[in-house]
Amino acid sequence: MTAQHASALFPSATVLGYPRIGRRRELKKAVEAYWSGKISQAELQGAAEAIQLATVGRLAELGLTGPSAIPGTFSLYDQVLDTLVAVGAVPSRFGTLHDADGRLGVDAYFTLARGNAEQQPLEMTKWFDTNYHYLVPEIGPETEFSLSSERVVEEFALAKAHGTVTRPYLVGPVTFLALAKASDGAPEGFSPLSRLDDILPVYTQLLEKLAAAGAEWVQLDEPALVADLATPASELSAAVGRAYAALTAGAVGAQRPAILLSAPYGGLGEQTAAVAASGVEAVALDLFKGALPSDAELSAWAAQFAGKTVVAGVVDGHNIWRNDLAASAAKLDSLRAAGERHGFALAVSTSTSTFHVPHDVDEEVQLDAELRSWLAFADQKVREVATLADHLADPASAKDAIEEATRVIATRAQAPGVRRPEVRERTSALTDADFSRSDYAVRTQAQGAVLDLPPLPTTTIGSFPQTAEVRGARARLNRGAIDAAEYEQLMKDEIKRVIELQEELGFDVLVHGEPERNDMVQYFAEHLDGFDVTVHGWVQSYGSRCTRPSILWGDVSRQAGPSILWGDASSCSAITVPWAAYAQSLTEKPVKGMLTGPVTILAWSFVRDDQPLAETANQVALALRDEIADLEAAGIKIIQVDEPALRELLPLRRADQAAYLDWSVKSFRLATAGAADATQVHTHLCYSEFGVIIDAIDGLDADVTSIEAARSRMEVVNDLESHGFGRGVGPGVYDIHSPRVPGQGEIEELLATAVEHVPARQIWVNPDCGLKTRGYEETEASLRNLVEATKAARVGL
Ligand code: GLN
Ligand code: ZN
Repeated sequence: MTAQHASALFPSATVLGYPRIGRRRELKKAVEAYWSGKISQAELQGAAEAIQLATVGRLAELGLTGPSAIPGTFSLYDQVLDTLVAVGAVPSRFGTLHDADGRLGVDAYFTLARGNAEQQPLEMTKWFDTNYHYLVPEIGPETEFSLSSERVVEEFALAKAHGTVTRPYLVGPVTFLALAKASDGAPEGFSPLSRLDDILPVYTQLLEKLAAAGAEWVQLDEPALVADLATPASELSAAVGRAYAALTAGAVGAQRPAILLSAPYGGLGEQTAAVAASGVEAVALDLFKGALPSDAELSAWAAQFAGKTVVAGVVDGHNIWRNDLAASAAKLDSLRAAGERHGFALAVSTSTSTFHVPHDVDEEVQLDAELRSWLAFADQKVREVATLADHLADPASAKDAIEEATRVIATRAQAPGVRRPEVRERTSALTDADFSRSDYAVRTQAQGAVLDLPPLPTTTIGSFPQTAEVRGARARLNRGAIDAAEYEQLMKDEIKRVIELQEELGFDVLVHGEPERNDMVQYFAEHLDGFDVTVHGWVQSYGSRCTRPSILWGDVSRQAGPSILWGDASSCSAITVPWAAYAQSLTEKPVKGMLTGPVTILAWSFVRDDQPLAETANQVALALRDEIADLEAAGIKIIQVDEPALRELLPLRRADQAAYLDWSVKSFRLATAGAADATQVHTHLCYSEFGVIIDAIDGLDADVTSIEAARSRMEVVNDLESHGFGRGVGPGVYDIHSPRVPGQGEIEELLATAVEHVPARQIWVNPDCGLKTRGYEETEASLRNLVEATKAARVGL
């Protein structure tokens, strides 16, 4: 092992990955142009190569020098899909996608990602506890594995031809299979991980090709090892042992590159022993989120890594705050001392890939310079890693940079707006009573007296299609082509149209349609103190989709002054009230006020790291509570607080989940518990796999909960029934993820299923989610069928 290790020294500084969408989202543009037939495959390839070479150039300039320091983490769509096509694991439902030479080309790749006329695309799900979504492999006993794409080798060769030896990246075999789901035809209880021995030869073949092309190191990413997944921990350990015994069997150099096994997103915990015992030459540990062992345990821990390189992920790859370089240097110093005693080498890295953060803070010139100095996007993180590597080589050379970071972090703690006494006094004065409403029975009575709704009330989730005119109006406002008054009038016109449409369709509870919201989190961020938004801060959400998370840096409250819109005294500080009040003025039917919940606001922003999330969530909750009071005062009788991200922040380790669910549920309750008994509180969740969180959803104590159900054919009503869910619930009857119009009969059937399992008096009728991304034509037809189906279903009650 030691001989192998000597054959390829790991670089002293690296990152586990880098944004691949391009500084100006060039990849998004190229890929979408290719899909719509505007550019050829060769042009797409050209654009992809330009991004890869720009990345290599940029990373070298930022200080990642030396062979294998730059990760080959480019992807046309998704890294799990890249690995899937490399090993040829096409689900059999797609038939033949391989070409005559047994290769999976670009079109096959996109077919898996996006589906075709006959087949749904691969399912998409969240990548660990991030906002990135990967494509889920479908593996069964029938899945054939064969080397089917050498894109990773070609990408390596491209950089090498331009003078840089990069470090190719693949999702590791254990994680690839652990994240897969059993294919449709697989027998009950089949585990994709049982195919490990069949997939390993393909990895081995690919490693040989990489070695032949000149790769010295390869990065095999194994984040499954930091999460408590369905696979028992002992099975995962055994899989690590088997997989890496096979992959390290060949000689480094001749038969394979040296292997870096990376374990981002948390501590390895009980998998540490299996990883350390494996023959891999280097292990990348998340030492930002996963803690370093205590002094007492450090020695025994360190001894396990003898002969390897420990790649210490001390710079957070997942959030945007400037690293506390002094603290990181201290961690590295103790690791170095341990390494010297126990015979491991040390290198510095980010804790995760940096593709979770935007490219470069320096692009955000509109941000306050002081705020900018607190931040580190991907490029700044590379510099931080390089500085820390300098520190290991020669502490004097990094001293100034480390002191500068310490100084900036101290300034941040004292800066105006970071800690505001009036906000802190409110959160510290909270008592249990602030988190609870009256009994549900009392509330239902009070609400029944005010609302007078028919059985199976109909409603929608909030947004109506965002037309080109609506988006155009916002763009013109931002450019200064129209003024606030003109914009306000255009939004009012749109609200009026949406209200009239719902009246005409016969809905019972109306919405204003959310035309004024660019995004359900950013809109709130723009109207709350403590937040800022970026211009170029795009991060990949999935495929070509990007989001631009807001930055939550200070204490949160509603803004003190009047907002730029509705600038009269009555609207002082309100976020949503004027729009809702205007909509309500147009109709006798109740209009739902529409808010984004505290957990979702946190989940879809970059959140301050200098206090517990629970504290930040309570501040956001109090701002929303103020908004709810103003909505009530404006005559709004139903208020929906969306929490589609409640499940997203669920910690990867089971032991941490209860504490999370406790504070997240409390923050929702804090936001909503100020509402009068007669005010009906709704919430909306975008998924139906309730599993471990059904108690938490019940704990939200919302009067009505709408959830996704059409896509899963009402499966969720079984969970609701066995749980004994006792309050209002709107299982979606219209899948808004595709333009398809559900027929009236189909909706009637879904409703019939729902009332078989949940008492009819609890059931609401609504789509799966907001209609923002749909067109008007299909939306109108679908909503018409929804209302007609409801009328028919009421007859049978
Ligand atoms: N009210 C939001 C909408 O309708 C909810 C969106 C969501 O759940 N993601 O758009
Ligand atoms: Zn939704």
